[in-house]
Amino acid sequence: MNKRLTEAVISRFRNQEGPVCAFVYDLDHLHRHVRKVMELLPERCEMYYAMKANSERPVLETLAPLVHGFEVASGGEIRKAREAGETIPVIFGGPGKTDEELEKAIRMRVSLIHAESLHELRRLAHLAQKLDGEVRVLLRVNLAGPFPAGATLHMAGRPTAFGIDERDVPTVLEELKRFRRVRLEGFHFHSVSNHLQEETHLQVIRHYMSKAKRWAKEHGLALTRLNAGGGIGVNYRELDNQFDWATFCSGLGELIERELPETWTLMFECGRFLTASCGVYATEVIDLKSNHGETFAIIRGGTHHFRLPASWQHNHPFEVVPVEKWNRPFPRKEIREEPVTVVGQLCTPKDTLARNVPVGRLRIGDLIVFQYAGAYGWAISHHDFLSHPHPDHVWLPVERREADRESV
Ligand SMILES: *Cc1c(COP(=O)(O)O)cnc(C)c1O
Repeated sequence: MNKRLTEAVISRFRNQEGPVCAFVYDLDHLHRHVRKVMELLPERCEMYYAMKANSERPVLETLAPLVHGFEVASGGEIRKAREAGETIPVIFGGPGKTDEELEKAIRMRVSLIHAESLHELRRLAHLAQKLDGEVRVLLRVNLAGPFPAGATLHMAGRPTAFGIDERDVPTVLEELKRFRRVRLEGFHFHSVSNHLQEETHLQVIRHYMSKAKRWAKEHGLALTRLNAGGGIGVNYRELDNQFDWATFCSGLGELIERELPETWTLMFECGRFLTASCGVYATEVIDLKSNHGETFAIIRGGTHHFRLPASWQHNHPFEVVPVEKWNRPFPRKEIREEPVTVVGQLCTPKDTLARNVPVGRLRIGDLIVFQYAGAYGWAISHHDFLSHPHPDHVWLPVERREADRESV
């Protein structure tokens, strides 16, 4: 675990009354990580932050000066993006946009809309006419695939709500030519989630390029952009073996040189890869018990705060932070060198965050600190199920450095 986070968790909670339960975010780590990501990004690429991973204000404000823009998927996210950065470029996707949201997008100067169906394109053309404006779009395509194995979720290459079926693209392109106020800038492909292999991700992008170039040629399109989506993964199983961004970027630079038409920009819209590592979810063990041969640690909190492990059906990685304080007049239960199943306070067996994971020593009152909880954690959870109190949210600030001061 990031040392600054560990220390913050320990010092903050040493004297707390009542069980600990908090998301702790290290904005300085976020700043350094994303700055590094941006430094390595090859020329002619742009990185947008997919806000649905974590749209808390301090995250957006930390990222706004670093990334090329925000990717949003609702009217609410457009508002949050504008609150965090008046002029930051915003691109707008999602399969079920309402007329109201599309109109808001046009009025709030969204740079690009990712059109997900022919009906949506027709509505956009109609709205642009009504507002006497012009909209720039990327067509989101659900490619036939197949995609290389290794991703956790697939949005394309199989039946999903996302994008236009690859087979329908020629028909849609022909109809688009009649919409004077809708300008096609390129294609959008967000097909996989949580890719961990640099080489296979490059293969997927190569596939996107070849499809987009073929359509551009066959239909005489003057395109400027290709959006390769997000999907760069986090390795929750082996924390020391993460997606190697430097290796990926060096392969990407070569790929761009060889394959990307000169007038095109390659866009990315990453969520998880940018924000997962900046946050932890720290909770106190309020009971330890065994039944039917399995030992359970019951924590203050659970999947109503941190739904990711339940959603992905994985064991979420955690560390035990020992707490020495014990002032009850009876023995403190502990386990040693034993597997433990970590569950929350909800009255359902689905409230499980990790199953049968060996721990060295764990006592009631110790802290369990879930790692890589900065993306799709609090953001995707059903906070009020069972009406337990919400966790604290702690933000460790970005440190001002000499170099930053000089550049101001
Ligand atoms: C969720 C989403 C992303 C971000 O995905 P990550 O796996 O978090 O990088 C990017 N683009 C679209 C269209 C999405 O729906």
